[in-house]
Amino acid sequence: MQGITILGSTGSIGVNTLDVISRHPDSFKVVALTANNQVERLLAQCQQYHPAYAVMADETAAAQLTEQIKQSNLSTEVLAGVDGLVRVSQLDTVDQIMAAIVGAAGLLPTLAAAKAGKRVLLANKEALVMSGHLFMEAVKDNQAELLPIDSEHNAIFQCMPSSFHDGLATVGVQRILLTGSGGPFRTTPLNKLANVTPEQACAHPNWDMGRKISVDSATMMNKGLELIEACWLFNTTADHVEIMLHPQSVIHSMVEYVDGSVLAQMGQPDMRTPIAHAMAWPERIDSGVERLNLIDVARLEFEKPDLQRFPCLRLAETAAREGGTAPAILNAANEVAVAEFLENKLKFTDIARLVENVMTELPASAANDLDTVILADREAREHARRWVKQNRNMG
Ligand code: NAD
Ligand code: MG
Repeated sequence: MQGITILGSTGSIGVNTLDVISRHPDSFKVVALTANNQVERLLAQCQQYHPAYAVMADETAAAQLTEQIKQSNLSTEVLAGVDGLVRVSQLDTVDQIMAAIVGAAGLLPTLAAAKAGKRVLLANKEALVMSGHLFMEAVKDNQAELLPIDSEHNAIFQCMPSSFHDGLATVGVQRILLTGSGGPFRTTPLNKLANVTPEQACAHPNWDMGRKISVDSATMMNKGLELIEACWLFNTTADHVEIMLHPQSVIHSMVEYVDGSVLAQMGQPDMRTPIAHAMAWPERIDSGVERLNLIDVARLEFEKPDLQRFPCLRLAETAAREGGTAPAILNAANEVAVAEFLENKLKFTDIARLVENVMTELPASAANDLDTVILADREAREHARRWVKQNRNMG
């Protein structure tokens, strides 16, 4: 029986993880569930899964949940804040942590899980983007297991030889082919992009996801973050990763070998496949995902991404090459920009403008310790918020 903590259990990845767990009650036991401030949803999950712990990042919400847990006669212990998240990531009774908090808020608990030598099921790409070097070091030093949940990275992992940690050249890998659908605005006329709404941006053609990653998919910042993520996970550089558009989202990414072989992982666009793969690895278990019918799909298309349409991709590539705190600055500016866009305070096209401004104004430095990364994140957010104030109401 594997004990599991789900960081961000009320989100899209969290709910999919619980769905997979429900199919295998004899193999997985929920030890802890966590959320930011969604008291009702977390309470309902506690009633269904009876975890030993429930954590609310928000202290007021934690007090409300404590009261409701008591009224429901549950024995779940409620914890609060980042300390609570870190604690349930390190429990002796926990074997695996699903890291599915969105954004930089996931960094400390995810890192704590790695330091405790757990199996880390990594959905929270922002943590790795911010502090890839420190994170990978923590995994190695503490014999943690890092299994990617992001569908592309899970696909790449499945197409890699098991000894890929020795270096891609050593195992005959030439390139990683990172695919992305191009999101909802792949063919929208460029002059219409300034006026697209949050609802349009969140209506992804193939995937059903949280709002932040949906907007990132529409700007393709998501693919940029995934480029940085791939470099850390597979110990390679941006020069060895080619990003390509694949509107059908059937191939989830590929690995090209020196002998000309290209291995692809395919499947329905349903996150339960990578979740089940990573939870059971190296075994395979049922995920509940519908089988792929290639005759119905009929056609697989590929194209080069247009950097004029997707300037965020260019910015992320720059940050990937620059290294140090550049990815943390990129990520923080993007988190602020997306939040403001979702509240209708910025235009869609302002997201890239804001990120570019912050990257130009704030020089990157080496990222040798966590304090440096957290400071870079904070400064970038402050700078981004100032930019928003100055640009909010301008045509
Ligand atoms: P979501 O918005 O649906 O859920 C986010 C979860 O994090 C919720 O449970 C929320 O309560 C929690 N949370 C938010 N802010 C928090 C805070 N400050 N402190 C503690 N908890 C907080 O997001 P999602 O779509 O499930 O994505 C989660 C992560 O997985 C993201 O990093 C995303 O990039 C990554 N990811 C998601 C998908 C997908 O299909 N949804 C695919 C690949 C990668
Ligand atoms: Mg992805």
